Amino acid sequence: MLLQIALPVPMYTLFDYAVLPEHLTDGQLPPIGGRVSVPFGRRTLIGMTVAHIAKSDSDVPPDKLKAILAVIDDKPIFDTWLLEFAVWLSGYYHYPLGETIAVMLPSLLNQGKPAFSVTRQWHLTDHAHDETFIQSKISPRAKKQLGDFHLFAEHNGLTDDEYKGLGITAKTLEIFYTKGLIAPHTTTKTTPPATLNEPHLTLNDEQQTALNGIKQAIDDGIYQGFLLNGVTGSGKTEVYLQAIEHALNQGKQALILVPEIGLTPQSQDRFAKRFNAGIITLHSRLNDKERLQGWQSCQDGTAQIIIATRSSLFYPFKNLGLIIIDEAHDLSYKQQDHLRYHACDTALYLGSRQKIPVILGSATPSLEQYKLATDGKLTQYHLTKRAGNATPPQFRLVDMRLGKHYHHGVTGELIHSELSPTTLQTIAQTLQNGHQVMVFLNRRGYAPILLCGACGWQADCVRCSSHLTLHKSTLKKAEHERTSFFHNHLKCHHCGYQVITPTTCPSCHSSNMVHLGQGTSGIYESLHAVFANPQTSEILYPIVQIDRDTVSAKGAWQTLYTTVNTGKPMILVGTQMIAKGHHFDNVALVVVVDADAGFLSPNFRSPEHTAQTIIQVAGRAGRSTIKGQVLIQTYAPDNPLLQDLIRHGYDKFAQDLLKERQQLALPPYSHAVLIQAKHKELQTAKDAINEIASYLPKPYPFVVLAPINAPMVRKNSLYYVQMLILANSRSLLHQVLNDWWYQVVNLPIAKKTAVSIDIDPMGW
Ligand code: ADP
Ligand code: ZN
Ligand code: ZN
Repeated sequence: MLLQIALPVPMYTLFDYAVLPEHLTDGQLPPIGGRVSVPFGRRTLIGMTVAHIAKSDSDVPPDKLKAILAVIDDKPIFDTWLLEFAVWLSGYYHYPLGETIAVMLPSLLNQGKPAFSVTRQWHLTDHAHDETFIQSKISPRAKKQLGDFHLFAEHNGLTDDEYKGLGITAKTLEIFYTKGLIAPHTTTKTTPPATLNEPHLTLNDEQQTALNGIKQAIDDGIYQGFLLNGVTGSGKTEVYLQAIEHALNQGKQALILVPEIGLTPQSQDRFAKRFNAGIITLHSRLNDKERLQGWQSCQDGTAQIIIATRSSLFYPFKNLGLIIIDEAHDLSYKQQDHLRYHACDTALYLGSRQKIPVILGSATPSLEQYKLATDGKLTQYHLTKRAGNATPPQFRLVDMRLGKHYHHGVTGELIHSELSPTTLQTIAQTLQNGHQVMVFLNRRGYAPILLCGACGWQADCVRCSSHLTLHKSTLKKAEHERTSFFHNHLKCHHCGYQVITPTTCPSCHSSNMVHLGQGTSGIYESLHAVFANPQTSEILYPIVQIDRDTVSAKGAWQTLYTTVNTGKPMILVGTQMIAKGHHFDNVALVVVVDADAGFLSPNFRSPEHTAQTIIQVAGRAGRSTIKGQVLIQTYAPDNPLLQDLIRHGYDKFAQDLLKERQQLALPPYSHAVLIQAKHKELQTAKDAINEIASYLPKPYPFVVLAPINAPMVRKNSLYYVQMLILANSRSLLHQVLNDWWYQVVNLPIAKKTAVSIDIDPMGW
C-alpha cells in the first residue's frame, strides 16, 4: 500500500509515497488525517495523508517512487469531517488541497510540532510487584536496566519528562512497557459545566421571538441559518448571549466570529461577565504557541466559548453547537489572499454539514445576505427598536458647499479644516452639555496629498500607482507645543514605502509645497487648536485619536477604554476602528467628516459599503439614556443614495440597491470569478490573461471581461491585470472552471505571473 499525501505546494495534485517497515505501528499504515514528512525534490516537506492506495493504483512508476521520511502523528489530527471540509474548500475556491490544509492548521503544526500535549503518567503494573515476573523479564546481568527499574519503582507515577530528568530514557520506558512492567495513564481533562455569573436580561418581544427560533434549532439538533437583522443598539449581543447559554446548557461549544478589529477588550468583557466558562479569544496578535493552545482547547473541549476571527472556523471542535457571526457584513470576513474564502459562506456550509445553527447578525446586512433571506435560505428576524430606553439617533446633513471651512488657531491665524463651522459649533455645544463626540474619517495620516504649488508635482509612491500620505506626529509628545512635529514623513498605505517629506519640490525646487485634504491626525490637529489649546479656549477637552497609528501597541485599547469610560466630555477622532461595535454611554454626537468619497468610487460595492459604515458609526450615538445626533458632511446633499439612506433607513436603501444589481446582473444576481496575473512588466501580465482567456471553451455562457487593469494597477513594484467572469448559473460556472482552471494554471505564463483565482470577489 502507498500513502496519498496532500503537500503544501501550489500544485493541484496529490503525491504518492511508499512506507518502510519502520513506519508501521502495530502493522498499521500511518493514519489518514495524520502528518508525515517526505522528501520533495531537494526539500523535506510536511504533508497530510489523505488516502491509502494500492501500489497498482498509483501513476508513479515503481522506480520513481520514494518513501516517506517519518510519521509525525500516530493518530489523525484531521478527522473525516475536517478532511471533507478541506476537500470542499479546495474544490469551491479552486485552491490546492495541500495548501488549503496548511491554511487550516496553526503554523506550529505546519512546522511538524506535536499536535497534542501528551501528559501521561507511568505506573507499575500488578505483575511488576512480583519478583519472579521481574526476573523473567529483566536479566540480572542487565545491570543498567535493572538499576533503572528500581529507580522507576522508587518514583512510581511520573511523566515522561520527569523520568527523563531522573535519567530514564523514553526508550527504556518503552522497553518496560513492552515487557508488561509499566503502563501509561493518560489523564483526560474534564471541563466543568459552564454556569452564569450574572442573570440574563429580560428580552423584549422581538428579541424573544428571535431567541425562540434559535433555541428550537439547537434543541432539534438541526442546521438553520439565521439573519439577525437588528438596528445598532437593538440588543443583538444579548440574543447571542442567551443563545450561547442554551448551547452551553447542553454541553456544547459556541463559536463567535468577530471582525478583525472588532475583537476588543470591551467585547470580551461582556462574555466573561456573563459566563463562568472556558472562554478563549483567538486573533492575529497571538503568537504561534498561543494559537496552537487555542486549537488544542477547541479540540479537547476545555474551550466552551470561542471568540475568534475568521480562520477558527477550520479548527477541530469537540462538540460545536452554535456559530455566531457578528457584524456579518464586515469586509474582513473575506480572506484576500491564498485561500480566498468568505467566512459567512464557509460557516453556513459548516453548519449545514454538521447540523449546527448559524446566526449572522448585523445592523447592515450585505446584499448577499438580504438575498439569501429573500430566497428563504436564511430565517430573518428583525430587531427594529433600540433596547432599554435608548432612541434612534437623528441624522442631519451638513452642506459643505456653503460657508468657508476656516477657524482660528492658537495665535489667531486661520486654519483650513475639513470641518464646517456648523459642525464645530455642534461639537462645542455637545461638549458643553457634558457629552462625548465621535469624529469619523476613514483616512489615516495628516493629509492624503502633497503637491508642489508651482509646477504641480505630486508625491506618489515609487512602487505603487497611488499617492503618498503625509504623516506628521500628532501633538501627544508635547501636548501644547506647536514645535512637536518632529516625525514628518510620506508613507504609502499599500506597500509601506516611506520617505522624509521634502521641503522643496524635487522637480522644480520651489518651496511652495501644499498639502490637500485631511486624515485623522490632520483633523486631530484642527480640533486641538479649537478645543484643547489653553491659549484659545477656556474649557479644555481631551481629544483622543483612534486609528492604526495610535492603537498598535499592546494594551493601547485598554488605556483608551479607561479614558473614554470615565464618561467625561471629550472628542474621539478615528477611522473605522471607532465605528465598530463599541458601546460608550455618553456619546451624543457622531460626525461623519466625508460621506462623498465612498459613493463616488467606481467599485460597484462601494455604495453598499459606504452606507454600512455610515450606519455603523452613527449607531455609536445615543446608545443609553441621552439622545444621539449624527452630522454628515457632504458636498452632494442631493445625492439620491444618501437621501434614501438617511430618510428611509438602511433596509430600504439595501432593497433599492438590490433592484439595481438585479437590473445590471451584478452579484448577488450573478456569480463572479476574478482571475489575476501579476508581473513586473505590465505587458507580460496582460499577455498572461489573454492567453488564459483563449483557453475558455467556446461558446461560453458567461460575460467575460479581459484583460482589465486592476483598480490599483501597480502595487509594490508589480503590475496587476485581471479577467472577470460573470455567470448566471453557479453550477455551470464551476463545471467549466473545474476543467479550464486546472489546465491553465499549468501554462508556463500562468506560473510566471503567479495567476490567482478569487471566487465571489469583493470587487474588481
Ligand atoms: P447591539 O449588539 O444590537 O448593538 P447590544 O446588545 O450591545 O446591542 O445592546 C445595547 C444595550 O442595550 C446594551 O447596553 C445592552 O445591555 C442593553 N440591552 C440589550 N437588551 C436589553 C434588554 N432586553 N433589556 C434592557 N437592556 C437591554
Ligand atoms: Zn515643483
Ligand atoms: Zn506603495
